[in-house]
Amino acid sequence: CGIIGVLGRHQAAPIMVEALKRLEYRGYDSAGIATVDDGRLDRRRAVGKLANLADLLVTDPLPGFAGIGHTRWATHGAPTTSNAHPHRTGPVAVVHNGIVENFRALREELEADGAALESETDTETVAALAARHLAAGMTPVEAALATVDRLKGAFALAFLFDGHPDLMVVARQGSPLAVGHGDGEMFVGSDAIALAPLTDRITYLEEGDRAVVTRAGATFFDGSGREVRRAEQRIAASA
Ligand code: GLU
Repeated sequence: CGIIGVLGRHQAAPIMVEALKRLEYRGYDSAGIATVDDGRLDRRRAVGKLANLADLLVTDPLPGFAGIGHTRWATHGAPTTSNAHPHRTGPVAVVHNGIVENFRALREELEADGAALESETDTETVAALAARHLAAGMTPVEAALATVDRLKGAFALAFLFDGHPDLMVVARQGSPLAVGHGDGEMFVGSDAIALAPLTDRITYLEEGDRAVVTRAGATFFDGSGREVRRAEQRIAASA
């Protein structure tokens, strides 16, 4: 339901929890974040209010300057911790808004290939598919883009990879997503409200767009894989 992503210069967890609070107005049933710290991917998830996630992060902190976060409004699978995002398969973590319509077919394909999925969500198939592409030798960017190409439905997605603390791959198809440009840091968010305290310079992905984001900037591709330019906009900064 709500997405935030950070490639920052400070601890990402508190920044992401604050951003998710700004997305609370959309409603949600659970929340979670993943970070890459010293190259290592890890995550924390909690059912219910963001305060529950914040409490969990006090007892079990999640360090790292790069991360993705999510507030979930369940469409596939009950509002439980194991169905909360980020979903993870091996070196890949994914947050997702919307619905992957062809997840049953993907799930069957993955299970036939030996994958053991842990959740009831449509989203986990996205992480599992990307992990399979990585295992087959693709780079993280190739794996994420090849995965998005297989998906049907309406979604916004952000991928984070173990061992890659300066990379997010994101996609927009029927569900809004924006990139925020900082000073030596970059952000992504499902709406400008989440990004407003972090930057006043944002770029909305257009329908079908994917973007490869590093701290140096973002590269945009349209649905056919062609590199495209997308204009930056000024938004009102807010506290
Ligand atoms: N379909 C996904 C799920 O149920 C994402 C729902 C959302 O947009 O929060 O986990």
